[in-house]
Amino acid sequence: MTKLNDYDKAVETYEPVLGLETHIELDTNTKMFCGCSTTFGAEPNTQVCPVCLALPGALPVANKAAIEATIKIGLALNCRIAEWTRFARKNYFYPDMPKNFQTSQYEEPLCEEGYVDVTVDGKEYRVEIERVHLEEDTGKTLHMGGATGRIHGATESLVDYNRAGIPLVEIVTKPVPGTGALAPEVARAYTAELRDIVRALGVSDVRMEQGSLRCDVNLSLNLPGDEWGTRTETKNVNSLRSVERAVRYEVRRQSALLDAGERIFQETRHFQEATGETRAGRSKEEATDYRYFPEPDLAVMEPSREWVEQLRSELPEPPRKRRERLQADWSLGDKEMQSVVNADALQLIESTVAAGTSPSGAVKWWLGELSRRANESGEELAALAITPTQVAQLQGMVDDGRLNDKLARQVIDGVLAGEGDPADVAAKRGLEVVSDTGALEKAVDEAIAANPAVADKIRGGTHAAAGVLIGAVMKATKGQADAGTVRQIILDKLS
Ligand SMILES: [Zn+2]
Repeated sequence: MTKLNDYDKAVETYEPVLGLETHIELDTNTKMFCGCSTTFGAEPNTQVCPVCLALPGALPVANKAAIEATIKIGLALNCRIAEWTRFARKNYFYPDMPKNFQTSQYEEPLCEEGYVDVTVDGKEYRVEIERVHLEEDTGKTLHMGGATGRIHGATESLVDYNRAGIPLVEIVTKPVPGTGALAPEVARAYTAELRDIVRALGVSDVRMEQGSLRCDVNLSLNLPGDEWGTRTETKNVNSLRSVERAVRYEVRRQSALLDAGERIFQETRHFQEATGETRAGRSKEEATDYRYFPEPDLAVMEPSREWVEQLRSELPEPPRKRRERLQADWSLGDKEMQSVVNADALQLIESTVAAGTSPSGAVKWWLGELSRRANESGEELAALAITPTQVAQLQGMVDDGRLNDKLARQVIDGVLAGEGDPADVAAKRGLEVVSDTGALEKAVDEAIAANPAVADKIRGGTHAAAGVLIGAVMKATKGQADAGTVRQIILDKLS
């Protein structure tokens, strides 16, 4: 059983220093050094060729779209773009890597010296970027026969090379000191911001749960005034929440060891999604010698300044600026805006407003009823079977008095069940508000006749008693009356 300190006590004593290494799979049509398809989910080993299988004599050619995407990421992260850069061979043996080296970048990365600003608890943190470089992904090893899919207990291992050679961008931060107790939140905010920046560029779908954005979290602790401590590297943390949890766990674990006078080993650790723990993996006490050397089969790259400036001019509005603009446009408070961001509803609300509804109407549906449905079904909000246009139509019907909120929720049932647009669902299910005043007056008359004592109270000036009659009319019309209209009819009749 690993001994853990209380988190708050740990950060009173020690200062955490963060570091984040993020791998992003680019969504280019073809692989980094050959023309093989990158489509996810194909039959194993069907998207391979002599180049990505490293057959003798095969020669790689660099993918221009991947280089462009990497330069754009570098520019969006405020990096300097190299004037001269080249690939290197990183030599190590691994069964899912057919070449026995990974073509990567070493001393000459494509982009260097950038930064990302994030805000946590109203305070600004600048996370400095050391480098952004381009490399290729490895294949995938599947361990068969064991209970957990891990190598332990497996009877055989199979290799799928479809992923081998897919372009991968690695983004490495400089150490981030000075976050104190907020280290977990800063790590999360940085990862979220990086994801949003890359998503806005349209060069990757950056889905953590599918592995197109993978995060390694480095953490060390030191006493105030001391040198930075020995860091651990927690691998493949695959959600924003897990980034936060991994940092928190390492602070608690390392501080308990340091308190006991033990030392921290420089090692790779693995995050356990189920328990929130990190477990020791490979020790890095002996630095691996990757015998990097320049890749002789690929030409050096010298991105012209004109090309770089051209790419800079194509950058989209930075996500941070966009959020500030939309928050002002929609007149949302900081807390409400934070809820929108946390629910991943920014784009959905923007599209709903663009489809012609008020910001408050769009926010109400996406953060309220639709978030509740998404939570229930365990889906992402954007995956619900309702489009922003349909939400705008729904709110439009509410604005026109054709639906009340209760009926609108039933219309949502129908839309989610694939019965068509809100107007179709309302027509098919007979859900529109009864606007025929003749029918409403008749229902009110019946309610008054059935509740003479209540009617007398209202006649005597107790308007609050109208609630009973409104309830009776709503029941009679199966909730399809507008409560305000019904109330008015009742008061008109009884006063
Ligand atoms: Zn290939």
